[in-house]
Parts: sequence; structure tokens; C-alpha cells
Amino acid sequence: MRRPVIAGNWKMYKTVKETLHFIEQFKGLVGNSNHCDIVIAPPFTSLSAAVNATRCTQIGISAQDVFWESEGAYTGAISVSMLVEVGCRYTIIGHSERRQYFGESDEMVNKKTRAALSANLTPIVCVGETLAQRENGQTQKVIQAQCRQGFSGLTAKDFSHTIVAYEPVWAIGTGRTATPDLAQEVHQFIRCLIQEEHGGIVAEELRILYGGSVKPDNIKGLMAEADIDGALVGGASLKPDSFAAIVKF
Ligand code: PEP
Repeated sequence: MRRPVIAGNWKMYKTVKETLHFIEQFKGLVGNSNHCDIVIAPPFTSLSAAVNATRCTQIGISAQDVFWESEGAYTGAISVSMLVEVGCRYTIIGHSERRQYFGESDEMVNKKTRAALSANLTPIVCVGETLAQRENGQTQKVIQAQCRQGFSGLTAKDFSHTIVAYEPVWAIGTGRTATPDLAQEVHQFIRCLIQEEHGGIVAEELRILYGGSVKPDNIKGLMAEADIDGALVGGASLKPDSFAAIVKF
């Protein structure tokens, strides 16, 4: 039985003060809910405050990105040990906005994923096709390449600490959610792919989240699908009440 994960990606929103205000309200709304893993990914500047504010709760804190080198002359970059030091337990890797605006390739996603795993951080690795790729019938080809290269060299143990997020680019921040059927089709495809390359046990245990305009009113339908194990939520994770409603799917 795979434990569900509901993760919020705050992108470049919220100061430290706003982060603390959110967490105070959110904690009251989710109470002791323990049916899923709850993850919040604030900007780097709020990580430490978020970790302190969620101590002794069921909420885990995630970074939105990480660099693969352990240290060096890499202006603006943050290493895995820096994230671990502030108490992060997860990091998002390969979000489509990182791929689109910061030129991240599958090779970079792979290096980041391996670096995260080496430091016991759980990577939440994003894959997904653009609208043009979907319309050209390339969805499976694109996802296959992203998974093959992004997960290259991972062991069965690594997979047990890895989360995949299927995020069709055309559904992110657009209000256009994939239907549960459509999302399930790709989730099943990803699980089969992992089964072929890494075996049945790895595939069966791997948690695959859906992301793309998830809201309180569509989460239930998505979570009812056999291969959807949770959600990576952008816009609707910025308000305590809507994120709490999604957590309580
Ligand atoms: C995201 O940022 O990963 C995301 C899915 O955003 P939204 O929920 O706003 O579409």
C-alpha cells in the first residue's frame, strides 16, 4: 500500500513573515491528519523558518531545487548538505519551470537526483510533456526519455526514497487539469516503464504524484485512480484553506 503524498510548491511566493503566517493557520486546519505525507516547498529564504515552525508536526519541508556539487564557485547555487543542515527532508527536481526558464536537461535532473539521494533527501522528480508534444502524439516518448535519463543509475533502494511527479506542462498554472482518466493513463505508463527497467517491486512501491491545476474540487477524482498516489500543488497550495482541503481529499 503506497502512502499518499500531498505536496505544495510555493514557487517564488511568500516572504519569511508570510510563510510563518501560512503555517500557523495551516496547522490549525489540518490538525493531526495522518492519512498522508504533507510537504511544503517554500523558497530557499523561508526554509529554515518553515522547518522551525513545523517541528513536532506531520509536515515535511522541501526545497524547490538543489545543485549537485557539494561546494565550490557556483554563484547562487545551494548544495544538498546546506538543505539537510536547515532540516529539509525533500527537494523538488526538474520542475518544468526549471527546465523551461533555467535550461535544465534530463542529465542535470539525474545529477541532482543522485546528489539528493546521497544526502538522504527525498527527491520529487518532475516529468511531463508540453501541449505541442501531446498534440503531436509524443507524450509517451517524452516521458520515457525523461524517466530513462533522469533515473539513470538509480538502484532499487534509491527508488524507495524517490517520488515522481507527473506534471503535464499544459496543465501547470493554466486552470486546465488533466482528467483523472488521462492522468491515470500516464501514471500507469510510468509505472510500467519503471517495472520494465527496475522490476515489479520497485514499480509497485514507487509513489507517483499528479501536478497541474489541482484544486479542492478535483483532488478527490484524481486520488480515486489506481496509480495516482498524491499531488504536487502550485497555486492552490498558497492559501491555507485550499491546501488544507486538498490534504483532506
Ligand atoms: C506546480 O507548480 O507544480 C503546479 C502544478 O502548479 P499549479 O498547481 O498551479 O498548476
